[in-house]
Amino acid sequence: MTFESVSFLIFNVPLQVNACRLLLLFRFNTNKMRFTVLLAASWFAFAACQNQESDETVSTAEQEVPQLLCTTSIMADWVSNLAPAHMEVRSLLQKGVDPHVYKPGKADLDALRQADVILYHGVHLEGKIIDVLEKMQGTTVIDAASQVPDSLIVADANFPASKDPHYWFDPLVVRYTLEHISAQLSAQYPAYQEEIETNLENYLREIDATADSVQKILYVLPEDRRIVVTTHDALSYFARAFGLTVKTLQGASTVSSFGLREITELVNFICENGVPTIFLENIVSPQSMESVQRGCEKKGCSVTLGPELLSDSLGNETDQDTYLEMLLFNATTLVKYLQ
Ligand SMILES: [Zn+2]
Repeated sequence: MTFESVSFLIFNVPLQVNACRLLLLFRFNTNKMRFTVLLAASWFAFAACQNQESDETVSTAEQEVPQLLCTTSIMADWVSNLAPAHMEVRSLLQKGVDPHVYKPGKADLDALRQADVILYHGVHLEGKIIDVLEKMQGTTVIDAASQVPDSLIVADANFPASKDPHYWFDPLVVRYTLEHISAQLSAQYPAYQEEIETNLENYLREIDATADSVQKILYVLPEDRRIVVTTHDALSYFARAFGLTVKTLQGASTVSSFGLREITELVNFICENGVPTIFLENIVSPQSMESVQRGCEKKGCSVTLGPELLSDSLGNETDQDTYLEMLLFNATTLVKYLQ
């Protein structure tokens, strides 16, 4: 084989092995005395490079990063704990955004279309988003609450025919939810089933430990101080799980309206029960609770307007940005202001 014929072969290899071709040319630009030895070595190098290129192409295609899109920051944190580390998990809603009334915009619709898997809370939490999801085709959509027994779902205190969607505040209900998500992700990505199941076991253990901590934190509150007054009825599951009473202006959705009658009733309740603090929420405007506080002052009973509890979203602070921190943050905040 002549130098010219080898050069011809090298110049006609596919473009994707340009780097290897340059390596070979560099070697062939030496004097012809070393040509034969370099020829053999270079073809080995060429074959190795070509195989490596081919393997990388297949590998990239197989390992395309799955996009898991969750409706809320709470769901995104759950899924981050369950999914294999290489999968990308995002939340459609930013922290502090109310999922009850959120209407998806064009960018949201694009994100939903591009996702490989979409996960939502269900029980009508994400009213307008669910309307969109029900019309989607060709994307795996996981209703996280679909396997939760009806007996564990709380009825909306203000509208008993409706269900309360804030089940994430009861760790027992969360267990059903996470087991369902885990099973669905395993079905979608069977190669990662073992990893997902291990992640589930570990995370459930963390949740159980955190629930024990929450119980211990709240234990110091005497019976007559275990009353949580806030805007919308997001904490009924928390109250059921940890032995509290919740009173709110609105029902289990921020869509439900309230007026002077509801404010007056809540003011009367606060004054009659000597409630020391009422709380804001991180997804709701403070105005309604400010009205309640003013109503209490007019009635002659003083009440503190406490900080925001985390209701339908994680918080932005470092002690509020995971689901487990959310439970602990609410418990410590309640104790701090109700004790
Ligand atoms: Zn809510």
